[in-house]
Amino acid sequence: MQALNFIDGKLQPTASTLDLVSPGNGSVYGSMPRSGKAEVDQAVAAAKRAFPDWAATPAAERARCLDRLADLVSANASELATAEARDNGKPVSLASHVDIPRAEKNLRFYASGIQHYASQSHAMEGEAINYTLRKPLGVVACISPWNLPLYLFTWKVAPALAAGNCVVAKPSELTPVTAYMLSTWVAEAGFPPGVFNVLHGLGAEVGEALVLHDDIAAVSFTGGTATGARIAGHVAPKFKKMSLELGGKNPAIVFADADFEEALRTTVRSSFANQGQICLCGSRVLVERTIYDKFRDALAAKAARMQAGDPLDPSTKFGAVVSEDHMNKVLGHIELAREEGGQILCGGTRLHPEGCENGFFVAPTVIEGLGPACRTNQEEIFGPVVTLQPFDTEEEALQLANDTKYGLAATVWTTNLQRAHRVAAGIESGIVWVNTWLLRDLRTPFGGVKASGLGREGGFEAFEFFTEPQNVCIKL
Ligand code: NAD
Repeated sequence: MQALNFIDGKLQPTASTLDLVSPGNGSVYGSMPRSGKAEVDQAVAAAKRAFPDWAATPAAERARCLDRLADLVSANASELATAEARDNGKPVSLASHVDIPRAEKNLRFYASGIQHYASQSHAMEGEAINYTLRKPLGVVACISPWNLPLYLFTWKVAPALAAGNCVVAKPSELTPVTAYMLSTWVAEAGFPPGVFNVLHGLGAEVGEALVLHDDIAAVSFTGGTATGARIAGHVAPKFKKMSLELGGKNPAIVFADADFEEALRTTVRSSFANQGQICLCGSRVLVERTIYDKFRDALAAKAARMQAGDPLDPSTKFGAVVSEDHMNKVLGHIELAREEGGQILCGGTRLHPEGCENGFFVAPTVIEGLGPACRTNQEEIFGPVVTLQPFDTEEEALQLANDTKYGLAATVWTTNLQRAHRVAAGIESGIVWVNTWLLRDLRTPFGGVKASGLGREGGFEAFEFFTEPQNVCIKL
């Protein structure tokens, strides 16, 4: 497998390359471009040339290109799911049920959305009429992470392109393959050269060169909070628009009046789905003290029974984490939890499943006995590791839930209607699920507060970001 850049309608290699590593077995299975400033300059120049025509293309035609791309995703769904599992370590069943269908849906959703997106007008009784033009921004950068590679890549590029922008996109260097595959179909889908460019390489090299480029009008970024802060430092003084979707330390609050079995089943999923590498995963499980022991024992027992396996085996439910470095980071956090006095109830070690002995696997890990202020309960781990903390009152639950610098998502488990509304409103986060998790309607605003980000994606929020409003006032 040799992944290539896609610039100005053409697939292009670079002189220098990086290895593609499969986390399931630790082997190198191909190469990818190691792009830098030269490729950024080339892609941005091509996008800038293409912009006037693309911006003037009717929305319905832009939508047709996105729909044709969605058709190609659908026609190649099984190859994409296999590629995602090989590149990322996630179970192929998850990639085929979640990542790839959602990538197709993102493209179709924004193809349809742009045809329903209307601007406002404001009449000044008899005096004047105002209307708002929503203009595309120009050339925009879309930078995405490795945890949901094609899913989050399309979540950004689809609204950007639908709104009439030209895009230079950079997927994560750890998982570039599905974005590369998508790029090979861009011309067939009907996008003119230069409209949609995909560059591969390291964040510190090509990513940084992209956000620093003066002709980039906006940066849409999903990734870690430290990277987001660095990008903001570059982008803010240049007054470019930016949307930052960052890390989290999400609470799952289980009240004693919850449906116990449902809360338990879903908490297992919200803790360990995609090996805990979803920004929306709950990583701090807060349980009302009267059911704490029962819930803890049941959660640890279920986690201990989870079998890690070959990501490419369709029966595997729990795969590898994304890289050796990330595995060592997660194991380091578990070691830190031990040093901080945490008791590891299950997991806590690397796994070597049969046939995948050299893969990067971390056992589902449940930890208790740590207070809210320790690093384990404050820092994002982004792996299959959760902590448990008991609480006595609703007030205490809310205090614990809000006691981190992050504010992305939260889950509340209760059958008390008043409490559900009260607690949801009291949580400092962009998203709250009550008695469910990861149920997503693409029309809703998506994003975080505090150190979890800036701005919202989803629905028309994405079009607001990828367009500039201009007020036109006409005297009558
Ligand atoms: P990361 O910040 O290391 O990298 C994200 C992307 O940014 C990659 O494409 C990377 O190459 C690029 N990048 C890195 N340094 C850069 C720089 N200096 N300039 C420009 N681009 C740069 O994050 P990651 O490790 O790939 O992803 C995991 C993180 O993403 C976690 O913190 C997770 O919570 C977060 N995340 C957030 C959301 C959300 O919606 N809020 C969704 C998924 C993941």
